[in-house]
Amino acid sequence: MMPEPGTSALAAGDRQLSVADARAAIAAALKPIAGREVVPLMQALGRVLGEDVLSPIAVPAHDNSAMDGYALAGAELRANEATVLRVVGTLFAGTPFAGRVGPGECLRIMTGAVMPEGLDTVVPLELCRTEEALVWIAPGTIQPGENRRRRGEDLAQGRPALHAGRVLRPADLGLIASLGIAEVNVMRRLRVALFSTGDELRTLGQALDPGCVYDSNRFSLMGALQRLGMEVIDLGLVRDDPAALQATLESAVAQADVLLTSGGVSAGDADYTRSLLGRMGEVGFWKVAMRPGRPFAFGPLRGDSQARWLFALPGNPVAALVTFYAFVREGLLQLAGATPDPLPVLRARCTHAIRKRPGRTEFLRGRLAPAGDAGWEVQITGAQGSGILRSMSEANALVVLPHEQGSVAAGEAVDVWIFDGLV
Ligand code: AMP
Ligand code: MG
Repeated sequence: MMPEPGTSALAAGDRQLSVADARAAIAAALKPIAGREVVPLMQALGRVLGEDVLSPIAVPAHDNSAMDGYALAGAELRANEATVLRVVGTLFAGTPFAGRVGPGECLRIMTGAVMPEGLDTVVPLELCRTEEALVWIAPGTIQPGENRRRRGEDLAQGRPALHAGRVLRPADLGLIASLGIAEVNVMRRLRVALFSTGDELRTLGQALDPGCVYDSNRFSLMGALQRLGMEVIDLGLVRDDPAALQATLESAVAQADVLLTSGGVSAGDADYTRSLLGRMGEVGFWKVAMRPGRPFAFGPLRGDSQARWLFALPGNPVAALVTFYAFVREGLLQLAGATPDPLPVLRARCTHAIRKRPGRTEFLRGRLAPAGDAGWEVQITGAQGSGILRSMSEANALVVLPHEQGSVAAGEAVDVWIFDGLV
């Protein structure tokens, strides 16, 4: 039997969902796309690894010195008197040692130089005294085996250096290069079709007719998508007209894995959108208990061989971005095959009191700043209306007051999501 409309797991109907329930429903519905490609390492930043990177070599490849100092055999070290050794040569990194080191002898060695046969210990320069060709090491200065890096101690040959699903960061590129690997297998980029809806919207370059606003959502969402490494298909502006909307949706379904729209899901618009999307797939229209950003629609539309996922965001510019961070960001990473680290949540002292009632999650725009010994402090960036982009632009973080939380007193610690940082 076909399920009744509105009874699928996603079609929450008019049910009010918490932010956590909405996030969980999205996470449960999405499966990563399948395609992979091979790219040169230099072009792999931000891409998602499609398979484990196995190390073809041991790292380090040889036992080597961790210090600038003198390499010696640990058995030479005396417990109760100074050890005195003769320096018979100098070893640089990258130059193998050809000679032999006999009893009572040692070598001057540089960091990274290969430890010669029979020598297992390095005494750092600053811990010994030298006199002409002799080195004096006081008893107890060093234990046999110290300051030597062992072959394979970072990574044994054949072991995974990085796992599939990793979003490649600068250090990962360096790590892969250190293994001698020049190309990596990555997930293909997720294709996201982006458009805005609303008769009152104007594109840049058009005159701003009375009562109209410029379409800003496409620009902020484009930025957010580009930061995530998505391939964006810009489908522009769509009028509040069922035929135009249907044509754009069909074009998007034919080209993209994901459709990201803003506007047209609030109560006034929902009727024709709802029946159109009902014919095209299984979209749930959710009232999420949050501010800003209550109306939100999510679900699969039928594609040729696999579902295309629709994320329909509210039109208010701040609500669109907040719902993007709350629901879409992780969903897209999941579809792209990534296993992202959880969003870092910082605790910061809130400089102002905030009135709030339990029963919904509230996101406030904040400016996070260091507060000396007190850690971090966050200041709300002015008027919080969901259309006010200026306070969003001034913010470097979102204060997140969870569902059950009541009012916040000035000076109380709150959770903060940071917009920027090391990538
Ligand atoms: P809606 O969700 O379509 O009811 O829109 C809610 C509010 O957001 C209205 O004031 C719209 O004018 C505004 N809005 C919707 N889409 C956009 C957009 N792309 N750029 C700027 N403002 C928008
Ligand atoms: Mg609208």
